[in-house]
Amino acid sequence: MTYSYVSHLYCPKCEETYSTKEKQQLCKCGSPLLVAYKMDELKSNFTKEDLLKRTPDLWRYHELLPVEDQENKVTLGEGMTPMLHMKNSGKEMDIPNLYMKDEGLIPSGSFKSRGAAVGVSKAKEVGVKELAMPTNGNAGAAWSLYCAQAEITSTIVMPLDAPEITRKECVAAGADLYLVNGLIGDAGKIVGQAVKDYNLFDASTLKEPYRIEGKKTMGLEIAEQFNWEVPDVILYPTGGGVGLIGIYKALRELQELGWIPEGKMPRLVAVQSEGCAPIVKAWEEGKTSAEPWENAETVAFGINVAKALGDFLILDAIRETDGCAIAVNDMKILDEVASVAKADGAFVCPEGAAAFAAAKELRVQNWIKDGEKVVVLNTGAGIKYPNTVEVDAPILQKDEKIVKQATTSK
Ligand SMILES: *Cc1c(COP(=O)(O)O)cnc(C)c1O
Ligand SMILES: [Zn+2]
Repeated sequence: MTYSYVSHLYCPKCEETYSTKEKQQLCKCGSPLLVAYKMDELKSNFTKEDLLKRTPDLWRYHELLPVEDQENKVTLGEGMTPMLHMKNSGKEMDIPNLYMKDEGLIPSGSFKSRGAAVGVSKAKEVGVKELAMPTNGNAGAAWSLYCAQAEITSTIVMPLDAPEITRKECVAAGADLYLVNGLIGDAGKIVGQAVKDYNLFDASTLKEPYRIEGKKTMGLEIAEQFNWEVPDVILYPTGGGVGLIGIYKALRELQELGWIPEGKMPRLVAVQSEGCAPIVKAWEEGKTSAEPWENAETVAFGINVAKALGDFLILDAIRETDGCAIAVNDMKILDEVASVAKADGAFVCPEGAAAFAAAKELRVQNWIKDGEKVVVLNTGAGIKYPNTVEVDAPILQKDEKIVKQATTSK
């Protein structure tokens, strides 16, 4: 039985092709590379029913993933996260069919583990021994952990301001961690130099072709969880945009396989923060690529990316699906963390909260229509960001009693 139907790598800009048997980075034209599969063979050999007896993790889609020998699989059980009906939040937003795919339940507490699982497995398969990457925190944490299992050494550079827990995850996993007094772009430059100086594999976002394949599985799962009937709208907090590009790629592949109808694509929404919204600006100006954002700053750290290498792919995915790009401000993001927790008991990350706030806004604008089925990606666990909630709890002495304020009882 063929484990993977991977065929080759191709450049979406200049159409050059590359082998998946060797280490690959960017195309020689500078564009990210994408993975192609033998779709005709897959069509005759792979069915939806094959999935029924498989474990509930992302490797259930191994035919559509690039790892060829299952011995190289590096896994912590990632994937098949819950798809929750957000009844109370949905009611408040007048979106009764509001769903949340909760990526907070993944090992390392963010969906970055999907990209790491597949990216590190494939790196191992092609013989990578040492890699390096810049990160806003979660990716570095995830890649460090998966690299530990794969016996690959990792050099991670993250901004000093990145969520503190993520640096601890890196250290726990034995990564070589550096904190930079700057943004992820500055971390990227430092990594670029280290890659040259020490001949490391560059695992920066989209500079290796396989992270996107891991993130693609979010799209496959969304389709499977809705029994191959895709929702109307998918909102995704967008930084580097790998998740959005991946979900789009997944849906296209499922259409090619005939597992979902050709005629209906969910409208993909790239959600950003007003403090860093290069994709939204490019979208509003009708451009096909984005300008770097000056002085980027937001509480939603995972989407604080001033310049995305895959900007043209993000904008393309939005355009092709009749989607849109929208920015929300940090105050709304923090309010939304609290309202989703209060309404439905889900403590979401600020990036996920941004997507909820965007859904609310798009419903007000009637861009989301009455009764539409809407999926928000909560890309990480709220508990990774303890500072999003202010606690002002009374401190009691041992023998003190609770005195309830009249306003706290309902
Ligand atoms: C990285 C990250 C994002 C953005 O993901 P991209 O696929 O790079 O756009 C969103 N949310 C969280 C929690 C992240 O860590
Ligand atoms: Zn190219």
